[in-house]
Amino acid sequence: MKFTPAKPLLTGETLGSLTEKLLERGEPAFRAKQILDWVYKKRARSWNEMSNLSKPLRTWLAEAFDLLGAELVLGKQSTDVTDKLLLELGDKSLIETVIIRVPQEGVGIENSRKTICISTQVGCAMGCVFCASGLSGLKRDLLAGEIVAQLLHVCYREDARTPRARMELASFDNIVVMGMGEPLANYDALIRALTIVNADWGLGFGARRITISTSGLVPKIQKLADEDLGFRLAISLHGATDEVREQIMPVNKAYPLAKLIPAVREFSEKHGRMVTLEFILIEEVNDSLEQARALRDIALDLHAHVNLIPYNTVEGLPWKRPSNTRQEKFADVLRAARVSVTLRREKGHDIDAACGQLRLKTEKERAVEVG
Ligand code: SAH
Ligand code: SF4
Repeated sequence: MKFTPAKPLLTGETLGSLTEKLLERGEPAFRAKQILDWVYKKRARSWNEMSNLSKPLRTWLAEAFDLLGAELVLGKQSTDVTDKLLLELGDKSLIETVIIRVPQEGVGIENSRKTICISTQVGCAMGCVFCASGLSGLKRDLLAGEIVAQLLHVCYREDARTPRARMELASFDNIVVMGMGEPLANYDALIRALTIVNADWGLGFGARRITISTSGLVPKIQKLADEDLGFRLAISLHGATDEVREQIMPVNKAYPLAKLIPAVREFSEKHGRMVTLEFILIEEVNDSLEQARALRDIALDLHAHVNLIPYNTVEGLPWKRPSNTRQEKFADVLRAARVSVTLRREKGHDIDAACGQLRLKTEKERAVEVG
C-alpha cells in the first residue's frame, strides 16, 4: 500500500528535515528557510524562479525533489458555492480537494465563510456502505507531501482569481480533513502534513481551525489526544446504537460505541473543546426518532456538537435522504434538549460534492476510454 515516488516531494519536508539534507550537501542551514519561503510564501512553481539560490543549488534541488507531486487535471466550479479540484498524482491516481464558500447574510460571496476539504488516501478501506470513497477499497495512502500539495493547489487557484494580491491561506476559515480516505488510518503522514500546514515556515494555518474527521479508529483517537497541536475532532457517528451503526459502518465491530464514546470523552477533556458528531440522515436506516433520542443522549453526555447531514445520493447505491419534514423532526428532538445542532443543507450537490464522487466518475470515464 506504500507508494514511493521517483523523487521525494519537497512539500513533504519539514524545516528540520530539509535543513539536514542541505547541511549534508555543504549548504548553510538558512537555505532551507529560503527554499520553503519560495514554495509557501512566494508560491514558486519551478526551481528556476528561486532567484536568490545559486544555479548549482537549483540544479541539485531539481534532481533531488519533485516540488508537489500533484497536478491539477480538472477544476469544476459549481453553480452555487463549491469549487472542486481534481488532482493527478505521480502514479496517475486521482484525488480531490474541495473549496466550499458559504455565503453569510448581507455580505457578498467574497466575504463568505470559506472551508477547504482535503483527502488523505486514494480510496478507503473502511467499507462504510453509503460512501462512494470506499466503493473500490483502498488503493493507497497519500504521502505527507501530497496532502500539503492539495492546499498549495487551492492557493494557486485563489491567486489566479485575484491576480494582484497573493492569497493568504489563513484567509480561509477552516480546513476539514473530510475528503477521500480515513485520515487516522494514515496517521503519520497526516500529522506530518498538518505540522507543515500549521508551521510559520509552512502555510501558517492555525491548528485550532483544522478539523480531522474519523469513522472511529479508537487507538488513533487516543494517540491524537496526546498530540501537542490542538486539532479539532469530528466523529462520523451515523448510528446512535451499535445495532444501527454496525449495519452501515463495519468499523463499529472492532470499535463499538462502548469503546468509541470513552475515547471521544478523553479527547474532549484533554483539549477542552467540543467534539463534533457527524450524522448523515439516511431514509429508513438511521432517521427514526429513537435514533434521534439515542443521539441526543450521546451528545449530552459528551457535550458534543451535532452536525446533521442529509444523505447525498451516490450513483449505484440504494440509499436516499429523508424528506425535509423528517429531517426537521429528527433535529427537533435534539433542539428540544438544547443540544447544539446544525442541519446542513449541503452545498455543491450539483457537482457531486459528496466525498469521492467526482473521482469515481472520472475513473469510470477513463475505464470507458481505455476499454
Ligand atoms: N473517513 C473519514 C473522513 C472522510 S468522509 C470519516 O468517515 O469521517 C467525510 C464525511 O462525509 C463523513 O462523515 C462521511 O460519513 C460523509 N459521507 C460519506 N458519504 C456521504 C454521502 N453520500 N452523503 C453525505 N455524507 C457522506
Ligand atoms: Fe472511508 Fe469515511 Fe467513506 Fe467510511 S465514510 S468509507 S471511513 S471515507
